[in-house]
Amino acid sequence: MRDSTETNAAGAEARGQRATEVAATDEAWRAFIVHTQGCSACRSTGLDCEPAAELKRIWRASKETAA
Ligand SMILES: [Zn+2]
Repeated sequence: MRDSTETNAAGAEARGQRATEVAATDEAWRAFIVHTQGCSACRSTGLDCEPAAELKRIWRASKETAA
């Protein structure tokens, strides 16, 4: 009885952790999009400037954590 309660608590904790990671991935992607839309270097070249590349790197890293 006591064991199954502990298992359920751990499961809920893991699900909460995953939701946080998904939100972080979302947030990182949004930061990248907001940057590219407001950055003249990104817009005029169609390429990622240095800060944009860094934002994309953060997004990729958080996506891998969430997967
Ligand atoms: Zn840029």
